[in-house]
Amino acid sequence: MGTDGTTIAALMSDPRSRDSNKPACQVCELPLPELEPDSALLRVEFSEVCGTDVHLRNGLLSGVPYPIIPGHVSCGLLEKVRGTVRDVEGRTFVEGDRVTFLDVHRTCHACWQCLVAHATTRCPDRKVYGITYGIDDGLTGGWAGHIYLKPGTRVISLDGVPSETYMAGGCSLTTALHAVDRADSASGDTVLVLGSGPVGLSAIALATLRGARRVLCIGAPDARLSTATAMGADGVVNFTEVTESDRATWVMDHTGGRGADVTIECTGVPAAVTQAMRYTRDAGRVVIVGQSTDHGETSFNPHLDLNKKHLEMRGCWGSDYSHFHRSVDILRVPGVAARWSAIKPDRYPLSRVDEALDLVANGKVIKALIIPQP
Ligand SMILES: [Zn+2]
Ligand SMILES: [Zn+2]
Repeated sequence: MGTDGTTIAALMSDPRSRDSNKPACQVCELPLPELEPDSALLRVEFSEVCGTDVHLRNGLLSGVPYPIIPGHVSCGLLEKVRGTVRDVEGRTFVEGDRVTFLDVHRTCHACWQCLVAHATTRCPDRKVYGITYGIDDGLTGGWAGHIYLKPGTRVISLDGVPSETYMAGGCSLTTALHAVDRADSASGDTVLVLGSGPVGLSAIALATLRGARRVLCIGAPDARLSTATAMGADGVVNFTEVTESDRATWVMDHTGGRGADVTIECTGVPAAVTQAMRYTRDAGRVVIVGQSTDHGETSFNPHLDLNKKHLEMRGCWGSDYSHFHRSVDILRVPGVAARWSAIKPDRYPLSRVDEALDLVANGKVIKALIIPQP
């Protein structure tokens, strides 16, 4: 932070107007906002780089008002509070509190999606810090010294949860929690997780917490699969080293020849959706959470892969307040939080966000955190 009421931020330009020889993000100095009543200023301790940020850089998400400050899940200290900011249990936040917040703002709870479909993550009014809020909306992303927490932002205390443990899970923990809720695995189930990125890793740990008899993971590279094992996977396969039919055989060998009871797809590769169906048992359940941007179509056999198998398919979009709230609560249990300590995030200053984006895009790091304070 500057001494004159300014802060620094990494600003991501519009991919359509970008000079490909220049980095996607530029560090700049921006003024701190005047706080509206019942708002706050967060001094950012950690933000992160996730797959969504790679999609942002590549222009693959709709409704993004570039230029933006990316970084949708972050934590830090409340540096300034104007008026009253309370948590969902009515406790008042004070300056100095260490917090995170729901990155989704302005879910209306008044539209058809919210009230009839009960699909608040599909509310057309919602705005997401670091994704669909841009610089014109103020300091609204975590790749900055400060974030302006607008009135109505849902703030959550991190009391009892180390910031690094929380951010080791970060947005992938909330996403995985939603997916594992949707998967609704029973105690004793064999759960197959496709993908060993941050969402897959958190899904593995969460599936074990639900009492899975066995959690299997097909992913890559080996460093991520070692972390998958540390987070509770009982068996892992590197898909780059095994043919698709051998992967199917491996799953059948571990499931009495039937297939997984529940499969959670966390890959982002369309073909993995069909594989998820084929690796799952009759009357099992498949949750698709990895297809967060449009990578094209895939084909399956409706008779063999779906109808005859009596299979249940569920999509999973975004996270709501409950997933953030419960993510923090899960990490308040020390023995449980230890699972996420297996993820050793790499740290990057604002001046290296483009490098961090490259490493995340290539799967070279398991988790990349942004540390914006100089
Ligand atoms: Zn994310
Ligand atoms: Zn709504």
